Amino acid sequence: MIKKVYLARTNDENLWKTSSSGGAFWNLAVNMIENHKGVCYGAKFTDDFRKVVHNRAETLEEAKVFRGSKYLQSDMTDCYSLILEDLKKGREVLFSGTPCQVMAVKKFIPDALQEKLLLVEFLCHGTPSPKVFRDYLAIQENHYHSKVTEIKFRGKKLKNSVQDMYIRFASGKAYKSFGTQDIYYNLFLHEMISRVSCANCPFANEDRPSDIVLSDYWGSADKIPDGFQKKSGLSGIFIITDKGEDFWQESLYHMTVIPSTLSVCRQGTLSHPITMNKNRQAFWESYHQQGLLSAFEQYFGSYQKMCQKRKVKNFLNQTGILAVIHKLKGRKR
Ligand SMILES: Cc1cc2nc3c(=O)[nH]c(=O)nc-3n(C[C@H](O)[C@H](O)[C@H](O)COP(=O)(O)OP(=O)(O)OC[C@H]3O[C@@H](n4cnc5c(N)ncnc54)[C@H](O)[C@@H]3O)c2cc1C
Ligand code: SF4
Repeated sequence: MIKKVYLARTNDENLWKTSSSGGAFWNLAVNMIENHKGVCYGAKFTDDFRKVVHNRAETLEEAKVFRGSKYLQSDMTDCYSLILEDLKKGREVLFSGTPCQVMAVKKFIPDALQEKLLLVEFLCHGTPSPKVFRDYLAIQENHYHSKVTEIKFRGKKLKNSVQDMYIRFASGKAYKSFGTQDIYYNLFLHEMISRVSCANCPFANEDRPSDIVLSDYWGSADKIPDGFQKKSGLSGIFIITDKGEDFWQESLYHMTVIPSTLSVCRQGTLSHPITMNKNRQAFWESYHQQGLLSAFEQYFGSYQKMCQKRKVKNFLNQTGILAVIHKLKGRKR
């Protein structure tokens, strides 16, 4: 059960920009690698960005690619046996992943070896299909006539945005979009493409399998506590075990941290799993038969129109007009 709750944000601007929320994961990774001389396991893109895989890191340079959420299912293939080997050799290990991946690791590792294993999960909204992601990238590369060289699901490139997609291409061009004007984000957030099993997730409650749970603080902007207001991207940290609390307390360098409560940081996935979109099955049938773009347009309207809206919204945002419109409408983001 959840013992303690904190809100935190790194004071390092560069770390904040390259992390999805407040950068809490990186502080844990630094503590494990630098102070405990342990190893870290996390998720990274493959070189061609077609897949997300779990990898092992001995150094901070190797672990750096784990920063940032990748909203698709990661491949854990080699990790289980590598973690076991590390623990048998007496190394300390930090494993981070979805709650179901954390539970899989916990079940695989014998109890006698778990003392040196620190399990870190995040609150999980479901993991989308890697196939849909590959097809989405093909649409983007086709549109920009260039290969992808960088992807950030939480680009933090657009002012006033909590979720913005950022893709850089070999040509030097960049795609920046609010989630609401992006194909992949729309499909993800409308529960069209996450695994069917995510609708029956056994971890959508307060009984967590890990030592520490990381989350994004989704509280409305006007409720963000003193000291954190200037920008979005704030970590919620839920402490589950004493081991988790001790490790967290050792990891607080260059961070602004305040104690918080479950009611302040509560999210839907702490009490119920996601509900799949009622059109999910029909969407997938169209997708298999006609491809991603055509299936998308059947449920979300014209792609061309969405692209036009994106350009207008990005311009309004860039010039500050969007903030004024939101203010007039009484919205903070
Ligand atoms: C698929 C998915 C769904 C999420 N749903 C929610 C949600 O509903 N509510 C919420 O509050 N937060 C959610 N998160 C977590 C959130 O986006 C941040 O990752 C979290 O708040 C930690 O942020 P950070 O700034 O501390 O660190 P970051 O630097 O963002 O941490 C990244 C960590 O996430 C791991 N990771 C990244 N992508 C994957 C992946 N595909 N599979 C497994 N591990 C991965 C990395 O290994 C690393 O440990 C989700 C993340 C993912 C990947
Ligand atoms: S929602 Fe549950 S089942 Fe789906 S990936 Fe997340 S933890 Fe696993």
